[in-house]
Amino acid sequence: MTHGFSTRAIHSGQAFDPTTGAVVPPIYQSSTFVQDGIGGFRGGYEYARSANPTRDSLQTLLADLEGGSHAFSFASGLAAEDALLRSVLRPGSRIVMGNDVYGGTHRLVNRLHVPWGVVLETVEMTDLDAVRAAVRPGETAVLWVETPSNPLMKISDVTALAEIGHAAGALVVVDNTFASPYLQQPLALGADVVVHSTTKYIGGHSDVVGGAVVVRDDELADKVGFLQFGAGGVSAPMESWLTVRGIKTLGVRVDRHSSNAATIADALEGHAAIERVYYPGLASHPGHEIAARQMKAFGGMISVSLAAGPAAARRFAESTELFQLAESLGGVESLIGYPTEMTHASVRGTELEVPETVVRLSVGIEDVDDLLADVLQALDRVTA
Ligand SMILES: *Cc1c(COP(=O)(O)O)cnc(C)c1O
Repeated sequence: MTHGFSTRAIHSGQAFDPTTGAVVPPIYQSSTFVQDGIGGFRGGYEYARSANPTRDSLQTLLADLEGGSHAFSFASGLAAEDALLRSVLRPGSRIVMGNDVYGGTHRLVNRLHVPWGVVLETVEMTDLDAVRAAVRPGETAVLWVETPSNPLMKISDVTALAEIGHAAGALVVVDNTFASPYLQQPLALGADVVVHSTTKYIGGHSDVVGGAVVVRDDELADKVGFLQFGAGGVSAPMESWLTVRGIKTLGVRVDRHSSNAATIADALEGHAAIERVYYPGLASHPGHEIAARQMKAFGGMISVSLAAGPAAARRFAESTELFQLAESLGGVESLIGYPTEMTHASVRGTELEVPETVVRLSVGIEDVDDLLADVLQALDRVTA
């Protein structure tokens, strides 16, 4: 019988240490492994770029939680994306991605892969007809979906997009960073590959940078595994161990992130200083019904646009006290950011540019009354 998500999050790949009985498997902080005679590997370990037991324990856990056959863990989310893309794209290959994907993902493809001969097209991913027109049968190699998207919280229908992508012979990739596997299971919805910045909800404590690729196909696993080994963007033992430790509480953390964010989104909708709240849990969100179908809850990320314009948005982002002004998201502590000059500065002047009135909140797991009071006092300062 398969166990539930949180049981697997604690136990999958985490058997106690057989030599000492240590309940928590040790951090194998070792670059190399002794051979019993030439080629006599213990447990298959040789050199830590090809495999390390601590990284393996994380990869086993991630593959299980996403319902994949294999997972590969990397030094950052972008290193994971780069390894995946370089294993499936060639000069002349076409990739279609949403017109509001994470700025760093766009920069990776636009500045590193396009000069190498890849053709990048961006499309409004919530418009299925536009996607159908953009994806060319036999030519488009990758359809890249990010849902919810960063920072405008657009919701894309993974099942419908997987059908469109597959009809054209494209590999369908979902960046599942914002939802985490606890809220959304893209492989079960029909996608071929999941990527993560494990820096965010999966690690969950703003103390580690990492990324992952999860696949369900052996042939693709061989290709991504070769890039991981051959180019070497692996996650280190300490980072792998910290990520495993974070994952054990993913379910309880994300439940609390989601309920805190729902309370704050409700309070902000209708606030005089706020022009619009971007939160898929609100009935007014254009993707609410799809999100309700494909996500277990709506997560901890909210964006808002300020009615009084860009200066008010900047002032709001600089006026909270518990919400600290910083890039990144998904940690237990609440953060606030001004995307157009912070996380998304690299896409200014492109069609991916984030409106200057938008402020992004990563709602943490503190007491919700304290968080709400903080946001409201900051809005008072904006309107004063
Ligand atoms: C942060 C982020 C990434 C990049 O991950 P890094 O760990 O910063 O390299 C990719 N996608 C999304 C949605 C992100 O938020």
